[in-house]
Amino acid sequence: MTGDQSQHVLVEKSAFAIMSGTMFITAVRPIIVDQHIIFTWLGILYSVLSIILYFIIDKTKKSSASKYWVIGFGFAELFPLLLLSGGVNSPFIFILPIIPLMVGLLSNTRVAVSLMIFIFLFVLVVLRIDDYLPNYSPVIADENHSRARAFWLIVACIISTGFAAEFSRLNQTLNSSLYKQANMDELTELPNRRSILAYLTHACLRARDKQKPLTVMMLDVDFFKKINDQYGHLIGDKALIHIADILQSHSRSETDGLGRYGGEEFLIVLPNVGRVAAQHIADKILKTIESTPLAVNGIEIKLTATIGYYSSKEDEDVSVEAILSYADQALYLGKKLGRNRSEYFLSTLT
Ligand code: GH3
Ligand code: MG
Ligand code: MG
Repeated sequence: MTGDQSQHVLVEKSAFAIMSGTMFITAVRPIIVDQHIIFTWLGILYSVLSIILYFIIDKTKKSSASKYWVIGFGFAELFPLLLLSGGVNSPFIFILPIIPLMVGLLSNTRVAVSLMIFIFLFVLVVLRIDDYLPNYSPVIADENHSRARAFWLIVACIISTGFAAEFSRLNQTLNSSLYKQANMDELTELPNRRSILAYLTHACLRARDKQKPLTVMMLDVDFFKKINDQYGHLIGDKALIHIADILQSHSRSETDGLGRYGGEEFLIVLPNVGRVAAQHIADKILKTIESTPLAVNGIEIKLTATIGYYSSKEDEDVSVEAILSYADQALYLGKKLGRNRSEYFLSTLT
């Protein structure tokens, strides 16, 4: 499950909690307390709206806007109730400290803190205008009692915001470390196979939509087994990091995709790059690899690589499988023709 999907599940569960909570309160509260009819009607109205909200959230699979709908609805539900039932002395006020916590979980610390400030101002204003509000609740409290409630209310909200902020920070740290583990190659710190293939899939769709060329290069280090055999696996690892650094220095980071495809194989994805430009880039990469030996333990180890590549045309309906297979076949040809060279895929190869 991706981060966005799990975020949406959380938003959906919150919408469900609001819906079932509202319906439960609407049904049970009149049994326990005598309440003004206005709260019964508001309860029914909120129940209907929360059911609609839940089904909308369930249907829209995007989390970015839906979490604000849930937060907004929670607010819209609570604040009129507070204003109609005695402000800080309202029985509904006990729900208020839960809100920053819920917002912190659904959104981020910034939103939770902004909300905390809003609640703080709301409580101060309500304390001032208390006497002018209609009070449909039987609770009547004196000034001192109201102030004490306002004070403890704000304290509870600050504690809840603190928890939300800490949880959200921890959650973000864990998420980014999980994301790294799932998408990054540990040795070279380049995107791993799964990540570069995901990038290629997007690049193919974009190239098809925008009718632009797309180049895919498969680079394989030459005689790498010999390097391992001669110098050991640790030096072999250093050679892979060295090659990865060179490839990274040739990458126009925002648009190009680069990743470790397998053992000593790398994939380079170049959107908007046609065959002629690709030829130049491939040769430049190979020249840099050849002219930059790996310096380790006082010795210099010469490295070379072979590139197989394919550039789709503007109007070509290219698939990920096809483009990978073309680059792979061109790489195979490059190896056969002597290595340390780049080869373009020509359909006559097949
Ligand atoms: P060719 O020029 O035909 O590509 O020959 P080659 O020796 O590079 O190819 P081969 O497929 O025979 O060997 C690849 C070697 O890469 C074998 C494997 O042990 C080594 N290898 C794969 N992954 C790693 C790694 O992470 N670290 C190290 N040190 N070696 C690796
Ligand atoms: Mg190989
Ligand atoms: Mg090799």
